[in-house]
Amino acid sequence: HKYVYDFSEGNKELKDLLGGKGANLAEMTNLGLPVPPGFTITTEACQAYLATGREPDGLAGQIERHLESLERAMGKRLGDPQDPLLVSVRSGAKFSMPGMMETVLNVGLNDESVVGLSAQAGGNDRFAWDSYRRLIQMFGKTVCEVPGEEFEQALDDAKAVKGTHDDLDLDADDLRELVDAYKKIFLKHTGREFPQQPREQLDLAIRAVFESWNAERAVLYRRQERIPADLGTAVNVVTMVFGNLGPDSGTGVAFTRDPGSGAQGIYGDYLANAQGEDVVAGIRNTVPLQDLEQLDKASYDELLGIMARLEEHYKDLCDIEFTIERGKLWMLQTRVGKRTAAAAFVIAGQLVDEGLIDLDEALHRVNGAQLAQLMFPRFQLDHEFEAVAKGIGASPGAASGKVVFTSARAVEMAAEGESVILVRRETNPDDLNGMIAAKGILTSRGGKTSHAAVVARGMGKTCVSGADEIDVNVPAKRFTVAGQTVSEGDVVSIDGTTGKVYLGEVPVMPSEVVQYFEGSLDPEHIDNALVRAVHRIMTHADGKRRLAVRTNADTGADAARARRFGAEGIGLCRTEHMFLGDRRELVERLILARAEGEREAALAALLPLQRADFEEIFREMDGLPVTVRLIDPPLHEFLPPLEQLAVNVAVAQERGEDVAKEEALLAAVRRMHEENPMLGLRGVRLGLVIPGLFAMQVRAIAEAAVSCARGGGVAKPEIMVPLVGAVQELETVRAEAEKIIADVVGDSGVEVLIGTMIEVPRAALTAGEIAEAAEFFSFGTNDLTQMAWGFSRDDVEGAFFWRYLELGIFGISPFESIDRDGVGRLIRIAAEEGRAARPGLKLGVCGEHGGDPDSVHFFHSVGLDYVSCSPFRVPVARLEAGRAAV
Ligand code: PEP
Ligand code: MG
Repeated sequence: HKYVYDFSEGNKELKDLLGGKGANLAEMTNLGLPVPPGFTITTEACQAYLATGREPDGLAGQIERHLESLERAMGKRLGDPQDPLLVSVRSGAKFSMPGMMETVLNVGLNDESVVGLSAQAGGNDRFAWDSYRRLIQMFGKTVCEVPGEEFEQALDDAKAVKGTHDDLDLDADDLRELVDAYKKIFLKHTGREFPQQPREQLDLAIRAVFESWNAERAVLYRRQERIPADLGTAVNVVTMVFGNLGPDSGTGVAFTRDPGSGAQGIYGDYLANAQGEDVVAGIRNTVPLQDLEQLDKASYDELLGIMARLEEHYKDLCDIEFTIERGKLWMLQTRVGKRTAAAAFVIAGQLVDEGLIDLDEALHRVNGAQLAQLMFPRFQLDHEFEAVAKGIGASPGAASGKVVFTSARAVEMAAEGESVILVRRETNPDDLNGMIAAKGILTSRGGKTSHAAVVARGMGKTCVSGADEIDVNVPAKRFTVAGQTVSEGDVVSIDGTTGKVYLGEVPVMPSEVVQYFEGSLDPEHIDNALVRAVHRIMTHADGKRRLAVRTNADTGADAARARRFGAEGIGLCRTEHMFLGDRRELVERLILARAEGEREAALAALLPLQRADFEEIFREMDGLPVTVRLIDPPLHEFLPPLEQLAVNVAVAQERGEDVAKEEALLAAVRRMHEENPMLGLRGVRLGLVIPGLFAMQVRAIAEAAVSCARGGGVAKPEIMVPLVGAVQELETVRAEAEKIIADVVGDSGVEVLIGTMIEVPRAALTAGEIAEAAEFFSFGTNDLTQMAWGFSRDDVEGAFFWRYLELGIFGISPFESIDRDGVGRLIRIAAEEGRAARPGLKLGVCGEHGGDPDSVHFFHSVGLDYVSCSPFRVPVARLEAGRAAV
């Protein structure tokens, strides 16, 4: 079995096997770009190691052979005392997991080869000993789990002795002593000397990278990013090149376009006389890439040429890492770069303009989650708000919250329902929990490519990085800026687009994308690259999609907004929402009525109110279908709470007041009390138990439709019966409704459909029978999920889902994204059997899942006719339905 690939053997399509980094190093090698030679150990080798706890048979021999050919190519041997070949050992999974797994640099250095390295570097002892101490530090920490702080402390001590804060002030002798100190630390924690055998160093480093796949922070990151847990990582063994050989060396990170806005230009950070990890870690502040032109014009020009070549080759934004070793440029990594939501749309539009991709491909380059993010509001700034600091707009959005300084505190306060901003000098992978919990992240160090920036962009979380006017003091839980002190719990606002930081809470304003959807920004006539790109891609999605998109709306205002957002009808009008407020009392009277007269009076009072509700909605949805669901409340929502009522009655009795009326109410509430209201008297059951209730609603709907038609409009009502589990329930409701409709509609030309929700598992399983009595089905995936799993939709999320997510029982709440295997199977069965019984049966979905990107793809694949979602999700569903179709 082949476990090792030379860079010249791979290509960019082999990400599963070689990981993203390995596949792209291979691709660049084959393009003839200057990549330091090396080889990649496959993810399969990692999977085998993780499954058995040992390297698979044959791996050691293959590494040996590749190492030999690498040594031949370089004319050096690994760790040779005179002229050592040194390698880096780098993780690289299929999906980028920035900083989550391990890397070990300078493998091959030992007490002898450190001398050879110095000679090779032109007698640069300082460089050689610095490289050696870095190896012991990284190796100790990542391979042997020596606490990293001990090395850092020793480094700080060495600097203190020297009276400096800068690593660069330590000379060769200082660093030689530091190596001794590091070795002692290593011995103390591992019980053995630092390994001097280069090949042993290599093997242990490779094993550590394999194992880092299951490091806690990597597991957490994968869960957050929904990366499967069983992929494993590849390991890249790459010839070392050095950016820390002097002022003519350096290292940098660059993007072929601005990953924040998508604008074309040169974006990157450069750090002279430094090694690669220094930039990503944000340890020293970098200079803009443009400054490299002054420092080393030849390398700069070559770099720009390579960047243009990469973009054309990958047909996308690329990010790269490079090192310059004494004026010679080396490419250490490239990949299709992460970007903000806005940049994703803008770049997709630009690439279409440039003829690199077509519009179908552009649709694949964006997604609904990004669109949703663009619909967030931004800060509304006026003279009252002066920024106190400006950093780098690392991940857009507007976030206000209470300042916290540690991840643990962020998690704690977020759990109490607080919005928090995590403030750090720089983040590191251990801060992931806090970053997830926070509304935004603010750091005082690091550029667009620092850990905080990369991870925040990936999460879609607002982030300002490198705000260096801010002086963060974590132990004291405060920062100072512009002469002011901000302590834990004080409110700040950060703007991830402009990088500005404000004290206090800044009000927010709507997004331009929303204004465009609202119709108040005309994409043809404004100079806004984002709005134009969104318009173009949405138009294409609309042209391609097969699913219609409706909305869930219970008011005229919501219906009107959703229609502007592109809704093609209402998929769910929840009528129980019309019974709250002032009308609640009427409903209470209706429910509690014992005599027919009382009930009829309540119904008669409700009829005109309901009719007016429907008239308004039909008017807003003129010409489009409107699914009105008959009332479906758990009854207790309309009745006074039992306990409180009981106390009131007891107190009144005590005072000797006349409580006959209250007692009657209490008795009624007792009579109707349910332990499990969500499984109780609701939906169709209520309609069958309370005479006249559904009839009143059906009449109101039909009368409103007729009144619309008389006024010249077109109403297309679809009456939907909730919570049906058996066809007999539906037939009973239908028989009564048909009579009323016939009576009201007469010759007005109004057509009323009658259908049902499918939200009880039994309904899905008997869909063939139910379809005989239904002109349409709408899947109520909220209740269907609740009843398929037996999870109370109102309680579980806080109660135990965190544990289920932790255990990987599911990767995301099934109430958020459809459970394809279970609930999805019920939907498939119902769709198939329903359509078999009644060809042309209209199928839709109106649970929350109708606006969830992944679920929309599932509904497309099952062949539903439409999804229905809340007004703000309508554009997201349109986009995803288009993406599902291309
Ligand atoms: C559903 O159950 O999915 C549904 C749409 O109905 P409701 O959320 O009102 O119960
Ligand atoms: Mg329901």
